[in-house]
Amino acid sequence: MALSRRTFLKLSAAAGSACLVEGGAPGFLRPKQSDASDATVRTVPTVCEMCFWKCGLTARVVENQVVKLNGNPLHPQSRGKLCGRGQGGIGLLYDKDRLKKPLLRTGKRGENTYKAVEWDEALDFIAQRLKKISETYGPESIALFSHGSSGTYFRNLLKAMGSPNITFPSFSQCLGARNVAYELTFGMSPASSCERADLTKSKAAVLFGTHLGENMHNSQVQDFTQAVANGTRFIVVDPRYSTAAAKAHMWLPIRPGTDMALILAWINIIITHGLYDKEYVEKYTHGFEAVKKAVAGYTPSWAAQETDLAEKDIIEAARILGKDAPHVCVHPGRHFSWYGNDTQRGRAMAILTALLGSWGREGGIWLPPKAVLPKTKTTTPEYPEPDKEPVITGPYPFAGGEGLTNEVRRTTITGQPYPLKAWLVVGTNLIKTLPNQEETRQAIDNLDLLVAVDVMPTDTVMLADVILPEATYLERYDDLFLITQKETGVAIRQPAITPLHSSRPGWWIAKELLKRLDLGDYAPYLTMGDKIQQKATGWGIDFKTLMVKGYVPVKHTGAPYITQDNQPVFHTPSKKIELASSELEEEGFDPVPQYSRIEMPAAGQFRLLYGRSPVHTFSRTINNQLLNELTAENEIWINQNIATHLGITHGSYVRLKNQDGVVSNRIRAKVTQRIRTDCVYMVHGFDSFSPRMTRAFNKGADDQQLITRYQVDPVSGVTGMRVNFVTIEKEA
Ligand code: SF4
Repeated sequence: MALSRRTFLKLSAAAGSACLVEGGAPGFLRPKQSDASDATVRTVPTVCEMCFWKCGLTARVVENQVVKLNGNPLHPQSRGKLCGRGQGGIGLLYDKDRLKKPLLRTGKRGENTYKAVEWDEALDFIAQRLKKISETYGPESIALFSHGSSGTYFRNLLKAMGSPNITFPSFSQCLGARNVAYELTFGMSPASSCERADLTKSKAAVLFGTHLGENMHNSQVQDFTQAVANGTRFIVVDPRYSTAAAKAHMWLPIRPGTDMALILAWINIIITHGLYDKEYVEKYTHGFEAVKKAVAGYTPSWAAQETDLAEKDIIEAARILGKDAPHVCVHPGRHFSWYGNDTQRGRAMAILTALLGSWGREGGIWLPPKAVLPKTKTTTPEYPEPDKEPVITGPYPFAGGEGLTNEVRRTTITGQPYPLKAWLVVGTNLIKTLPNQEETRQAIDNLDLLVAVDVMPTDTVMLADVILPEATYLERYDDLFLITQKETGVAIRQPAITPLHSSRPGWWIAKELLKRLDLGDYAPYLTMGDKIQQKATGWGIDFKTLMVKGYVPVKHTGAPYITQDNQPVFHTPSKKIELASSELEEEGFDPVPQYSRIEMPAAGQFRLLYGRSPVHTFSRTINNQLLNELTAENEIWINQNIATHLGITHGSYVRLKNQDGVVSNRIRAKVTQRIRTDCVYMVHGFDSFSPRMTRAFNKGADDQQLITRYQVDPVSGVTGMRVNFVTIEKEA
């Protein structure tokens, strides 16, 4: 089908928008070169990737320059708005420090010496090395670490090569334990496209360290704001008086590491005082008596001792939850890798949710709808069965399919059970993500090949042997996004402008590598634009409408709440909500969570806590000109009394020294009453070690550098990272 440029612009104008087309566009839209240059003002709907919430946006483009980003009003995750980071996408696109050409390392790793090469040379080099490594050590010796949309293409590359070692830090360093806990309890995770927290309908809600407002996930913060306006009673459990705590009905400044004690005491109170939803528990749950017995000793007075909270506050909070049930949201949180007991902490939260009857109820955790889409034919050959077992689950029975980065790293260091010799690192800064940077460096030193695919020259990128500059999300197509909110729909990512410099989309890089590895059949499409056009058409979606609107709803089955006609399905062994988990029991773990005290900081030490900034996404955005102007470096929150005792003044620089003698870069003190005396807090992701990140290099302190210790959760294998203690040193 041929569509003239004139017709295309007419079509776009009719909807008040137009899409730039480029290499990678579907055939009918691929223009002559001159078409891109004489464009005037266009609005291109696409999908944000400044974080991973995947909001729909519209890019305003003037003469091939993106000048403004706005939220797409049709997309349920943006609803016409973008967060500050989303607005900052232009800063990423035009960052002068962006990777511009493929680079081949010429000096030693970490010396920052590279030569710029053409794509053919870089891709031929990688393919040749991968073939050699695969022949010598087997395809399983190649591992993938990825984050973001492009990870899919490289996952397919590894599968085609026959390697099962595919891993995502988002599991083992973030939300893995949460998902495992809820899957053990309800047979599914509490998140679909996003967490299914029904905050706008909640009468009460609990946030365990979830700092909404600082953790700026667009539609969720919109819901939070609406809930505050609605008068929802928020109970915020946090050692720090966060932005969310400032909006709360109750702030519970808990002793860090004791959340489990509080939740078990709440479960005890709710059962003892008959505040649970008896009908719901009777109908949908398994193991109530076991829970009742297991929590009998966790009294409010015991919990008050453990948590350092007032007994009356513990009781009052439980009463609020019981009174407002089932319209209560126990927010499942997101970053969950805290203390090494994380799956069981998630289990306790899930049990509390179930006792309040709020899973599948208005104001609780809504049920995911299922999109109704025709089955489409696939032309991709089946992937070969790997010869060897993956190393990505280690000895952890519930590590699941998403893989443990820490196990890949351990295997790379030890060479057991087999050698790992090549890493592909796509869109993730492992040095700033995994605990214990020394171990990460040690593993990298054992590699024969490290390939990094990224937009920016991050810490990890600058340790790679080959660096491939990826096009940003504003310059590329990606696979279609199936959005599962209370409604379902399909969103498109499409380029607002042609890729700058010599950058290329991730799908193109993976496809070119497959071709060079004689595996081209695994990417049977010409371009991603062609592929998604075919997919959308197969789903019965008019592709031109999708391109013009950015998001189109599709039919779904299932309602968000339990009704007579919409009964929940629990994919657990008992087909019920497992208050006592038979799967955990079978593997030798407590079927109902129990409390064990964790190590506390010694006198003079402070537990290191970390979190997020509303204007940054970890280390990904710290060099972004627009966002760096808002927050160029992080601060360390220190309690006022402690600061006075140590002679530290607000705004002065200090350094932190951890229990293993590691000393941070200088960091400005935020002296405040808004944090307990036994911990300090900083925003994660600062102090880039990469001199090519000229705005972020050496600015602020790196929490990950101080996280030399980690506690592996025996159930899911995730790495608990809030187990490090620091002392504070005034800068001379
Ligand atoms: Fe982009 Fe913000 Fe949405 Fe994340 S929450 S996808 S940064 S607009």
